[in-house]
Parts: sequence; structure tokens; C-alpha cells
Amino acid sequence: MKKGIAVSPGVAVGTAYCIHEIFVNPDTKRLEDREITAELAQYEYARDKTTEDLHALQKKVEAQVGHEQAAIFAVHETILRDSPFTKKVRDWIVTERMTAQAALHRLMAEYTQLFSRTKDEYLRDRLNDIRDVVVRISAHLSDVLKPETHALPGPLIVVADELLPSHVVALGDADVHGIVTQAGSQTSHAAIIARSRGIPAVSGVVGVLRQVKTGDTIIVDGREGHVIVNPDVETKSAYHKLEREFFHLKDQLAENHDRPAVTADGVAIQLLANINGVADAHTAERMGATGVGLFRTEYMYLAHPDVPDEEEQLDVYRRVVDAWPGRDVVIRTLDIGGDKTMVYLGRNVREANPFMGWRSIRLSFEHPEFFNTQVRAILRAADYARRKGSRVRILFPMITTLEELRRLRAIMRKACRQLTEQKKPFADVPMGMMLEVPAAALTMRSMLAACDYVSVGSNDLVQYLMAADRDNPKVSHLCQPLAPAVLQVLADVIRACNEANKPITVCGEMAGQPRTFVLLLGMGLRSFSMSPAFIPTIKDLAAHISVAQAERLAQRAMELTTLAKVKRYVDEQLRAIAPNLSVLDIA
Ligand code: PEP
Ligand code: MG
Repeated sequence: MKKGIAVSPGVAVGTAYCIHEIFVNPDTKRLEDREITAELAQYEYARDKTTEDLHALQKKVEAQVGHEQAAIFAVHETILRDSPFTKKVRDWIVTERMTAQAALHRLMAEYTQLFSRTKDEYLRDRLNDIRDVVVRISAHLSDVLKPETHALPGPLIVVADELLPSHVVALGDADVHGIVTQAGSQTSHAAIIARSRGIPAVSGVVGVLRQVKTGDTIIVDGREGHVIVNPDVETKSAYHKLEREFFHLKDQLAENHDRPAVTADGVAIQLLANINGVADAHTAERMGATGVGLFRTEYMYLAHPDVPDEEEQLDVYRRVVDAWPGRDVVIRTLDIGGDKTMVYLGRNVREANPFMGWRSIRLSFEHPEFFNTQVRAILRAADYARRKGSRVRILFPMITTLEELRRLRAIMRKACRQLTEQKKPFADVPMGMMLEVPAAALTMRSMLAACDYVSVGSNDLVQYLMAADRDNPKVSHLCQPLAPAVLQVLADVIRACNEANKPITVCGEMAGQPRTFVLLLGMGLRSFSMSPAFIPTIKDLAAHISVAQAERLAQRAMELTTLAKVKRYVDEQLRAIAPNLSVLDIA
């Protein structure tokens, strides 16, 4: 049994499907004489295709982001044209009878060795560029990301180093029941994707790709963070039973889809969904969400082959609106940087502290044209939504100061003026700030005057308050939403918004976790946005607790002085309120 971090609850038993980066598993096949010419031709074909890709990328990024940002693709083209690069690959195919994939693997290994001795950051960044180029050629050479998943028996458990947006796209509608990753944490891509699809997942399982091969039987326990490879018959049948219980409970809870979200004493609450794209919007609707509380648009950019232009974005936003007639849709502008990077937005900018650096709204401010495109697309989507009886709201991430809010108002006004001049229909939208930075929490009362609503990004707020990186397992004991300091800040912020009559939602992971949900309810919060998979559970939990009960619970929890005491107390209370939660809750 291997231990990792439980990131998405539930239990699944299935067949492992391993996604190896191309460099992990080189092809050892030796070519026959008659195969050599065809292999060379394939390599040339892949190289030409890569050149075409890079040309197209450069043009599009130049038009939409800027000349400077597009320059990286010119660098990649230079690498591709570099004569030793191709000469080596061709030589190895001919003289050593290697496949093109294996030759690329060897080339990458040589460069890695050469560069590993250098302390020069510039050169190390060049290694990343070479890797990007090799990956592109390799993708044209093979179907590495288009697995023959149908050839494997039963439901699949995807095993990868980190699940990338491109993997998710490539897996399409394969029957994935579980996810295991070597890297990652509670808030990494894989975790967010797994939770939004209701798939049990475990992250941070060190070395698992070396111990599992495609076709192995594998168990994922997303409550405890356990992964079991090739279990014995008894273990397998015990977990099959748990899996059935998990499905049964999920089905049972999903039946409350049409029931209104109300507490035991009849107080209405909003259970909104965090989504990453159109598919999630449909899932969320099925799960009984009351709207979209957070559309993380970065996945739209990350999964796009180059840059989504205004029309393409508008199309995505419209489709999200269509999934949800008559509801609110909150669209968050690009939140990139920190753990998520894109090659044309300064991936190679090295920062000692990326989470405290040039990320999110700070990065958007420095790419005004690029940012403006998204603001315009959202304003235009708002007009579409209005005609469909829905409402779009805009949300800006990682706000730190009042000046930033004022600047954003000005940007929105300018976009409205432009659209008026161009006679493009649009609608004005409420402007929200994400509360993720302690400085903004401390000055909440003055900031409220400058925005229309608040959405608490507790994943970030907790990491900044506790000075503990949300993706670093070494400090995960500190990065805890139940920490007394976090509870105090949240209670204060909720009070400030309620007093000022400004709507407030919590959209970080804590909104969908039973322990923190009851505390937030007790602090006066009425709007929660979470991964769609959690909505049925939370709706069920809400129906079992009254507001007065939650208030008492929150009050008592806030008198406790350590995280351990808070956890123990809330757990005891929850067990009494809703004993069936343990199958679904994360340990
Ligand atoms: C958060 O920080 O809580 C949040 C919802 O945003 P993200 O997880 O995308 O940073
Ligand atoms: Mg955040």
C-alpha cells in the first residue's frame, strides 16, 4: 500500500492506465533495414508539423498578447532548425536503428546531462525550451496522449506524474474512475479536476509510476489517501464493497437534486459550483447546483492549442450560460502564475517566491490588451445571458489594494466604451473581488465601497495567512482552514460584508468540506461555491443542521485555541449530526 494525499473523496477499483512522459519509457525496438527510410520520413513529417505549429502560435500570440511574448516561439523554431539537433536524430535512426522517439529520448538525455552541470539559470531555461520542442515533435510522432483506453478491461485508474489539461482533453470520455498522481496537492490541477468530476483521487504518491504498469489492478482510496497495487482477493472485494457504498450514497444524494438547499430550520442557502469549463457546468447542473460561483477560466487558456481570441471565449461563456438557464454565472478573469504557467505569459520568468510574485491580476495588469480581450468577452457574454434570463458577474482574483479595484473599474468602463463605439452588444456586470490576501481582509471595510460583491478564495487566503505554501506537503500541517487564526479572519470578513449588505461567497475548497461548511454557516455565510461533486453531500448536511445549531458550533469552535482542538470538537459534533458522511468526507 502506498500513501499519498487524499484530494478527492470516494473509493475506486480499476485497471491502471499510466501516462508516462515520453522521456520515461524510451522505445527499445531496433529498426529493420526496410523500416529506416520510413522512420526518417516520419521524423521529417513531425518536424515540419512542429514548425507549422510554432509559426501559427507565434502569429496568434503576437496578435493577442504581444510581440515580446511571442518571441519564445521564435526561439523554439531556432532550436528546431539547429543542425546538430536534427543531425543527431537522423544519425541515430540510420546508424543505430533507433526509432525517432527513442532518438529524441536520447537527445533529451544528452542535453539534460550537459545542462545539469550548469548553475546558469538562463541555460537551464533553454533546457525547458528544448524539452518543449521535443515534446511537440514527439506528439506528432505518436499517439502518446491518445491512449487506446478501450483496449483495457473495466474502469480506468489514471496514473500520472501530474494530470495536465492536455491529458484531460486527450482522455475525452474514457471511463475514468480514479486518479493517482506523483506530484500535486489538495489544490493542484489534478485535484481540482478530479473533484469537479466526482472522481476519487490521491496525489503526492512518490514514485508510483515506477511501481505500477498499465493493466495492473489498482485501488484508490480518496478518503484516506491510500493506493493499493495488485491487491489480494480479500482486499479487492472489501474495496469493491466500499466502492458500491460510495456509488450508492452518491446516487442517493444526487436524488436530492431538485430539492431546495435549506437548513433544518428552513433558511435558504446558495450552493454554487466551481467549474473549469463547459463539461463541468453540465455536471454541476446535474448535481443540483444553484448556479456557477466560480468559473476558473485559466483552464480554457491552458487547454487551448494557442490563445483563445475574443470570439472563442465568448463562445465558451455562452455555452456555460446555456447549461444553466436562469442562473448566475460568475466568471473569474485569468488567474495564472504561481503553480500554473503558460509559455507565452512569462513561464521563463524565474521568481524566488512565485506565489507572492507576478501572478494573477498583477500579471493581467501588465498585459493590458490581452486582459482587455477577456473583459470584453465577459461583458458581451453578459448581454447574451441577460437575453436568456441569466446573469453574468465578473470576478477579479488576488486583489490586494483599493487602488487595484479602482483601476479595474476604469478598465471595465473603457471596455464598455469601446464596445459601444463598435456597436457590439454588451451588458454591464457586477464587479467582484476575490479575497485571498490578508492585506485585503484587514482593509475589507474600505474595499467594500469599491466593489459589488466578495468571493473568498480561501485556498490562497489560508496559505498567505499561515505563511505556508498550499502545494508544499512539508508545511501542509500549517496550511489548514480550521486554524484558529483563519477562523477569526473569516468570521470578521463575513460580518463586515453582512453589515455592509454586500453579497459574500466562499469559493475555496473549504466551502464544500463538511467541517468548514458548518462553521461558515454558523458565522453567517449563506453562499457557498464548491466542486460540483460535493453539492449533494453539503445539501444533505445542511438539511440536518439548523442555523442556531451551526452558530453555537462556530462560537464554541472559535473559543478553542489550537487546530487539533477545533478539529476534534467539530468532528464529534458532525458525527452526531450526520453519521453517514464518513464515506464521502476527506480524512
Ligand atoms: C482560492 O484561492 O481559494 C480559489 C478559489 O482560487 P484558486 O484555487 O483557483 O487559486
Ligand atoms: Mg486563488
